[in-house]
Parts: sequence; C-alpha cells; structure tokens
Amino acid sequence: MSERRSRPLIVPIFIPNQGCPHRCIFCEQEKITSQAGYPVNREHVEKVLYQAIQSKYFDPEREPEVAFYGGTFTNLPLGRIKELLRAVAPFISRGFFRSIRVSTRPDALGKEHLKAMKDLGVRTIELGAQSMDEEVLVLSQRGHTAEDTIGAVHMLRAEGFRVGVQLMPGLPGDSQKKIRSTITKIIGLRPDMVRLYPALVIKGTKLAQWYEEGRYRPMALDEAVKICIESCMRLETENIPVIRIGLMSSPSLLENGQIVAGPWHTAFGFLVRSGIHYKGIETELPRPGEALKIKIYAPKREIPLLRGYKNQGLARIEARTGARVTCVEIDDSIPSGRVKIEKI
Ligand code: SF4
Repeated sequence: MSERRSRPLIVPIFIPNQGCPHRCIFCEQEKITSQAGYPVNREHVEKVLYQAIQSKYFDPEREPEVAFYGGTFTNLPLGRIKELLRAVAPFISRGFFRSIRVSTRPDALGKEHLKAMKDLGVRTIELGAQSMDEEVLVLSQRGHTAEDTIGAVHMLRAEGFRVGVQLMPGLPGDSQKKIRSTITKIIGLRPDMVRLYPALVIKGTKLAQWYEEGRYRPMALDEAVKICIESCMRLETENIPVIRIGLMSSPSLLENGQIVAGPWHTAFGFLVRSGIHYKGIETELPRPGEALKIKIYAPKREIPLLRGYKNQGLARIEARTGARVTCVEIDDSIPSGRVKIEKI
C-alpha cells in the first residue's frame, strides 16, 4: 500500500473563525481556507459531503473522516454543534465516513459539549496549543496558558477522544530554545498526533501590523525548516506522528501580497521530510575526498526525498561529500530510510 493510501482521507469543512472568543494575532482563516461568506449549517455540510463522496478521489479504503477546521468548534452553541454533527450522521451510518474530528482551543472544552460531540461521532479533537511557553502565549495574546493545554489533553483522554496538538513555532517571543522546550513538554503529554505550522505573517492580521512596525521578526525559511526537522524527528522517535508540516496553500493565500513575511514555501513539508531523510543517510555518505563520483541506490518511494526540492537534496550530498552524484537508481531491496552508495 502506498504512503498516500495508508493515510486517512480527511474531508475538511471549514468554519472560519466561528466560535472563536477573539481573533488571534496571526489568524486569517478566511484567507487560509479560501472559504468566506457562506453559512455554516446543515445544508452546507451536506453539500460538501455529497461533493466529496462523488469525487473520483474519494476512496472508502482510506477510512475517510469529516473534519471541522478553522474555528473553535467546541465553543459553538450546543444547538449548532448538534445541527452540524447530525448532518454528518447519515454519511457515517451509510458507511461513507468512519468518524469526525474537530479543531478547537485548549480553553474551550465544556463537558456537556464534549458528551454531545462524542455521542454524535466525534472521535478526535485537535487542540491549537501553538506553544507551551507562557511568555510566548502572552506576547501572542492567545488568551490561554500552557496549563490549559495540559489540562485539555488529560481531559480529552479521560473522555475517550484521540488528541491532536497543533503548534506554531516562531510566534512573538519564541526562540529555538523555547521551541525545543515546547516539544519536550508535548512529548510528555503523548498526544496521538501533532501538526507543525511555523508562524507566517498574513495580510490584515495584527501580526502583519507588528511586522510593519518592526515589533515582530518572523523566522527565516531555513531556520524554520531546521527547527521543524529537529522537532519532527524528536516527536516521531517517540512514536508521535507529525501529520502536517506547514500551512496548506489555498487560492486566496497564494494571491499576491497575502503572505507578508515569514517562512512560507509551497512545499514546506517536503523540505522538512527531505531534510529528515538526509539526516538518516548522512552517515552512509563517503567522507570528502573518498570519491569523485557516486551512484546512489534507494527504495523507489524515497527517491523524491533523496533528490529533494528541485534536486536540492542531491546538491546537499555533493556539497557534503565533494563527489558528483552521477545517477540515482531504484533498489527496493534497500530498507526504508537507507541508501546504498557506489563509489566511482
Ligand atoms: S482560536 Fe484558532 S481559529 Fe480562532 S482566531 Fe484563534 S487561531 Fe484563529
């Protein structure tokens, strides 16, 4: 089974900024999701799901899930929560979808809401924790604490939900040291999954204003890639899967001038995954001067990672070894994450 097929299929329904107690300094969900100006109600949910199941990409084998993203789902009025989840219910009972996931804030979990959500098919709750550093949370005006995140993870576990944590390295006041410390604390919480979204400056946000005023400096792209490689490796070594790295591009986000600054790259996650792959094979590479040319063999599915974005992975290998990579060949007998090097 390919990696793509082995991942669950998530059909997102965006509820841009709905249920949010305030607008966070970095957040512009309408641009991130390209979905503004529609009512989030039963009809909308049914329309999105009918479109999804009729799509040629819909694959029931991938255990499809419905996800309510882009707002504070658990803070919606209980009646609205029930309306939206009941709209999904027939699609679950007919076998099109397996379950529902929602994203929310760590300080917005009411027991009554959680019970209703569980009864109506929600299995996973993703928490926008962003950082586990109190100073970063205050400077970023998140309005919740790291303690709230710890309490939320424990509570959701106790209630029988799978728990995801979303982190946003690079917010105001953040540093490499604080990001490392955040990852250590998250590992201690043992969530079922993590998403890493390095902070970006999006037009129209308070963060954009601070950036223009010189009050905020975002991470550079290479800095963000590096810390995400390290964070991802630490989490996955602890068997905590990182299911998304970097913001997904959407048409309105890609419009000229919408991303004002920050470590944006359309293939950010791939840059990180390719960097992780490189770290894994680094010790197998010849030392500088050991070869003039090399041929590299790797499993087929890992060749894109080896080559890297626009062959930057091969350039990195050439810079490290001083040898020219003459060709890359498939060898599926090689274990995952490894390569075979032939010196020429
Ligand atoms: S709570 Fe989440 S969705 Fe709402 S404004 Fe803040 S970051 Fe955006």
